[in-house]
Amino acid sequence: MTIASRWSVPIPRCSLQQWIFGSACGPVPNHKAFIDPENPETNFLTMGDYRLLAKRFALGLLEAGLKKGDRVLIFSGNSLIYPSVFLGVLMAGGIVSGANPTFVPRELAYQLKDSESSFLFVAEHAVKTAFEAAAEVGLPKDHIFVLGGSNTLPTSQLAQSPSPTPGIKGRVNGARHWTELLTNNLARAATWSWEEPAHPEETTCCLNYSSGTTGVPKGVEISHHAYVANGAGVVHINKLRPDFAQKQKTDRGLCFLPLYHAYGQTYFIANLPHLGIPVYVMPAFDFLQMLAHIQRFRVTTLPVVPPIVVMLAKHPLTKTYDLSSIETIGSGAAPLTREVCEEVERLFSTPTAASVAGREKQLFIRQGWGMTEVTCTSMSWDPTTTARGSAGVGELLPNCRAKLVALDGGGHDRMAPPVEKAGVRGELWVTGPTLMRRYWRKPEATAETIVVDADGTRWLRTGDIAFVEAYKPGGIFHVVDRVKELIKVKGNQVAPAELEGLLLENPDVADAAVVGVTVDGEEMPRAYVVRSPQSKASEADVAGWMEGKVTRYKHLKGGVVFVDAVPKNPSGKILRKQLRDRAQKEVGDA
Ligand code: AMP
Repeated sequence: MTIASRWSVPIPRCSLQQWIFGSACGPVPNHKAFIDPENPETNFLTMGDYRLLAKRFALGLLEAGLKKGDRVLIFSGNSLIYPSVFLGVLMAGGIVSGANPTFVPRELAYQLKDSESSFLFVAEHAVKTAFEAAAEVGLPKDHIFVLGGSNTLPTSQLAQSPSPTPGIKGRVNGARHWTELLTNNLARAATWSWEEPAHPEETTCCLNYSSGTTGVPKGVEISHHAYVANGAGVVHINKLRPDFAQKQKTDRGLCFLPLYHAYGQTYFIANLPHLGIPVYVMPAFDFLQMLAHIQRFRVTTLPVVPPIVVMLAKHPLTKTYDLSSIETIGSGAAPLTREVCEEVERLFSTPTAASVAGREKQLFIRQGWGMTEVTCTSMSWDPTTTARGSAGVGELLPNCRAKLVALDGGGHDRMAPPVEKAGVRGELWVTGPTLMRRYWRKPEATAETIVVDADGTRWLRTGDIAFVEAYKPGGIFHVVDRVKELIKVKGNQVAPAELEGLLLENPDVADAAVVGVTVDGEEMPRAYVVRSPQSKASEADVAGWMEGKVTRYKHLKGGVVFVDAVPKNPSGKILRKQLRDRAQKEVGDA
């Protein structure tokens, strides 16, 4: 027996851009979609600008040679024009792949090569990394577009400018400035319509990278239909608020979550613009700036990851800001304890704190559960619920179904029986219209992750261990552990297989296994390494070597330990559970 969502909602059969804007040329509400919090009066894009700019990017890309289904990689932090680049690629018939802007050349080259991207957008500060990676995979420089460079025009006038001039001079070492894509296409864009996909469920719109339950990062093929279904579910939940129509006019979002990741991307590029809620866009997360912007712009909705909730609880300055405008804090992407939530909830409910001035309602931090492989979110809270004090991740979103599969069958056994009892742990399997199509060009990994039932239902094995408070529609799920390899550092994915593969390239290393360990509530990678016979390297040398190879959040902060042998089962599979338990005993939280 499976658990179904309490809601079944219709999903418009259209492209993501059609869902956001309603049409290519018809009227759109002209409220502000994206605003620069540093310069809110002049630096903003209205919904009309958002669509026009995206259409101009689409026309520019088509002229530059983009073909239907071509991948375009965006390697940049957040900016006001990031969403227009994203939508522009889709309007041109392309597929977006977003990469973490802190990647080192090797990491970017991996994603460029794996996705076989034919165009690359890169933030100005990351051009050097991009060039190195592009050279490695043979991407021509004139297929690289540099984003940023202070423009001669405020963003609010950019979309309407016939030929905006770049703030950085001409071509950047052979790469092109993004404004080249807008040259002389203003008039055409006004009347141009994109071609709607004939089969939105079979037309991929983005490849977000995830390692899933095992192995290295893989491109997760999300269709237009899945993206729209995810949005339709989230929007349905939002509209359950009795004061929705009134609140919609005053709601404001603050975006510091990265737009390359499903969480920030679906929420800020698609869902809030669709709902008509303006978004203040920060280039990256900065705690004090976040507090200042909430206070200044009376931000109402705040999607975060657990370390930010911890900072809100612990940082002495939280209390000195007026955060009373906040109506909802949603947390996802990694586990969060109820104790920390309560600290923040208390803080927001203490009458003397500046953060609570004028608050009538108590704040309830709502956790949600999601995965790149289901576009973004499958579980969240009904906003009308008054249930408090739950560490649960909410109930199934519209159109989604789940089951819990017995762990003693390995959790991975296709035949393992479902657990059908409240409170009993099992591996979480989910299905619904937001499920990915497949892993990009990885049929074996797809077959391992998606199990097809006798009735043809495609189930995603999530690799998460969960239980449900009541085994029925509306049951609240709790995600309590993982059976998969994945390590999550501040909400970012770290794939042990990637770090193990790298360690094996080090001449001092004969064998290695990497697992996650939780120290002071934060997960970090820890390596168990067998040293090569002649090696004199220290454990610190191995950790230091890794720092030159990967971006910061993948560093071996949980330590390196030399061992005689990596524990493996007879078929050579690393006994990760054994190592995780050992790591937790050695350095982890009790
Ligand atoms: P990603 O694909 O990067 O979004 O990572 C998905 C994984 O993050 C899930 O499979 C979980 O392991 C973890 N995760 C997401 N949300 C939660 C949550 N609320 N509590 C615990 N783990 C979570």
